[in-house]
Amino acid sequence: MKILSVASEIFPLIKTGGLADVTGSLPKALEGYNCQTRTLVPGYPQLFANLPDARQIYFFPDLFGAPASLLQARYEQLDLLILDAPALYNRPGGPYLDEWGHDHPDNWKRFAVLSYVASAIAGGLIAGWSPDLVHTHDWQTALTSVYMQYSSNARKVPSVLTIHNLAFQGQFPTSVVSQIGLPPEAVSLDCLEYYGDVSYLKGGIRTASAITTVSPTYAREVIAPELGMGMAGALSSRPRALTGIVNGIDMDIWNPATDAYLPVKYDHKRIRLREQNRARLLETFRLDGGPGPVFAAVTRLTWQKGGDMLAEVAEEISALGGKLIVLGKGEEHIETALLAAAGRHPDRIGVRIGYDEATAHLIHGGCDVIIQPSRFEPCGLTQLYALRYGAVPVVSRTGGLSETIIDANDAAVSARVATGFQFHPATAENLRFSIHRAFAAYREPKKWARLQNQGMKANFSWERSAGQYAALYAQLIPDRRRKAPSA
Ligand code: ADP
Repeated sequence: MKILSVASEIFPLIKTGGLADVTGSLPKALEGYNCQTRTLVPGYPQLFANLPDARQIYFFPDLFGAPASLLQARYEQLDLLILDAPALYNRPGGPYLDEWGHDHPDNWKRFAVLSYVASAIAGGLIAGWSPDLVHTHDWQTALTSVYMQYSSNARKVPSVLTIHNLAFQGQFPTSVVSQIGLPPEAVSLDCLEYYGDVSYLKGGIRTASAITTVSPTYAREVIAPELGMGMAGALSSRPRALTGIVNGIDMDIWNPATDAYLPVKYDHKRIRLREQNRARLLETFRLDGGPGPVFAAVTRLTWQKGGDMLAEVAEEISALGGKLIVLGKGEEHIETALLAAAGRHPDRIGVRIGYDEATAHLIHGGCDVIIQPSRFEPCGLTQLYALRYGAVPVVSRTGGLSETIIDANDAAVSARVATGFQFHPATAENLRFSIHRAFAAYREPKKWARLQNQGMKANFSWERSAGQYAALYAQLIPDRRRKAPSA
């Protein structure tokens, strides 16, 4: 099967969160299921430094008002198509925000153009390669199926829209529609119209052949008002099209036995070696190297992720004899509260504001507990990395967190299946209670070692989930319906 994946970020070239991890690792996993994936991404400046051999395969003299090219390149195992539209992508800042942290004012156009080009590729733009199916991710590429619906192209292909986070919806005034090459009919209730505006995500929800979320629990949660974030109606209108497929992790990049960022490599049989990484981690954050569990969080510091709760429990962790390390970036009031706590306890609380892949790996390889107090969590990857690295997760019971972590209640502990601690609902009080539970378990070295061991043996590789995507693709691609793929 030939798959065109369309994404606004892809690891390791450009990443702001879990979306990039997925779009960067799923294609590799799909190869084992007879899927050849090419990924269309915007030509951000961050990409070109690593792609010296990118070659032009198509030229647009006038793509929505400016010239642009379609390039192709390989990077490691990724087969990339790059939309080089300098007027839209060649600027400082990140994929969505400028250097001052504000949305790029023309995001409505930057991602509409990307989706338009994806639909053109689906329609046969590239000589010699046409996809059997298009896989889009989040609002930034959700318009692809809208363009396909309204295109006069004879070649129509099925599409899958994966929702990684329903909170981001691509909502813009209706006036943009006439500027992105869509007809006025697209602003209808059963397409883009969204409370007087348009939502690119809603357009995708209404027009994609299938919709997936990144965990089955989140797929159930989003059709209810609480976590549906205004899209519950649109999603419930397509019950048969909506499913959940839990994310996998890249077992090569996140492997404590080979991780180049770790001073000492280890696996579940040599878990004692983690001790040396712990020491390096504490040194890096200039914390006291004495005993007591090291709690940590690697996260966007936002309301969704419960960053405010981390600030609320920081001093209690320190008072109980533990340490807290936070690596993250986000809302200013959360950053300020965490920095203030670190200022009061510089030997027990370490906070680094920023995004840093190397430190993220060291944290997973050296801390004892990863805290993830999300108010909602479509899948969550940090807890999966924690499991693989022998750090015990403390998570709220929501979305993907609820199905990937097994709470250490008495039954699960005696059945030897527990991997972490869960709390619900996501409040600072409940988090505090779970932290006390973690302290208590940490004081029983045998019990703790079992938790670590059970976590490290849990298998969240892409293998199974990639198989589910491949089966979904096969169901949607007309002449494949009867031929289910095998690994
Ligand atoms: P989301 O995509 O909602 O932010 P996920 O848990 O799905 O959350 O994925 C987050 C990804 O981003 C993980 O790979 C995590 O390690 C990484 N990450 C988050 N914040 C940072 C940071 N400050 N530095 C390095 N990596 C980070």
